[in-house]
Amino acid sequence: MNYKTIYLLLLSLFLFQCSNSENPSTQVSKINSNAESQKAAYAIAIHGGAGTITKKNMTPEKEKQYLTALNAALDIGENILKNGGSSMDAVEKTIHYMEDSPLFNAGKGAVFTNAETNELDASFMEGKNLNAGSVGGVSNIKNPISAARAVMEKSDHVLLTGKGAEIFAAAQGIETVESKYFFTQRRWDFLQKVKAEEAAEKEVSSEAKHGTVGCVALDKNGNLAAGTSTGGMTNKRWNRLGDSPIIGAGTYANNATCAVSCTGHGEYFIRYAVAHDISAMMEYKGASVQEAGDYVINDKLVKAQGEGGAICLDKNGNVAMPFNSEGMYRAYAKPSGREVLIYK
Ligand code: ASP
Repeated sequence: MNYKTIYLLLLSLFLFQCSNSENPSTQVSKINSNAESQKAAYAIAIHGGAGTITKKNMTPEKEKQYLTALNAALDIGENILKNGGSSMDAVEKTIHYMEDSPLFNAGKGAVFTNAETNELDASFMEGKNLNAGSVGGVSNIKNPISAARAVMEKSDHVLLTGKGAEIFAAAQGIETVESKYFFTQRRWDFLQKVKAEEAAEKEVSSEAKHGTVGCVALDKNGNLAAGTSTGGMTNKRWNRLGDSPIIGAGTYANNATCAVSCTGHGEYFIRYAVAHDISAMMEYKGASVQEAGDYVINDKLVKAQGEGGAICLDKNGNVAMPFNSEGMYRAYAKPSGREVLIYK
């Protein structure tokens, strides 16, 4: 070996060393980004509605009730997923719990229409094959989320409404109840308050005017599912349907991108196709679930003055829970831990 070869060898060794000795902070960020892109074995997120939910308007007892209910709902879904159950079962059973709780505007706690009835909407979507089902304006189905799932699995249709949806659900053996089941004093009083405000031509308070429950889940087989269930908006009339039963507006799931369930002023969520828009940003622009959720909820919708939020879960178990209102009942769980939150 002559001197020239030895010199070249030493030089390339030196250059190789330099290219590998990055400063420690770069190395740390690399490790972190690797951890973030690691797939969670399972994940689940829920919401119980968004709106004027502030610490100031809350009593300690009420806050405790909501936190307990959110934790209990999450436990149901997390246990299913932990034991290898499907994301669809996790979504359905978790939403059952929230529908049966009078705390949330869905099922038992549904708000009243102008005609002093309860009209419930729900939708369900499977990320594996983009199958979907929903029901709108039903009045005697105890758990509308199960009716939505049945439309998806047992009919050739996506959206059934009113009497027809009720007949279909009953034929599928889905539990029905008398209309008085949905009576709660709190929602009744609120309807009277809203009607009085309207009669006095006062601005109708948005507090507790709406609300909704939703769940998104990722199972151990990598399948995403999303579901949303609501009583809609207090004092609604003319068989108004919001975004919750509209696939692409209130609910969306696609294994290639994410699962989304929304809550908020439904008319805006329909016009801006919010749930699908979040998925589309990921699909077409390669955005992360956080970027997509933030852009649609905290930029586009804010400019449009559409109040609300969404829970979004990507195929790797990353969760985003953006909202532009003062609060949103929300929570998530994955093997690495859980968070249960109410305020901003
Ligand atoms: N999005 C529901 C609706 O407009 C209400 C809500 O989520 O607050 O019917």
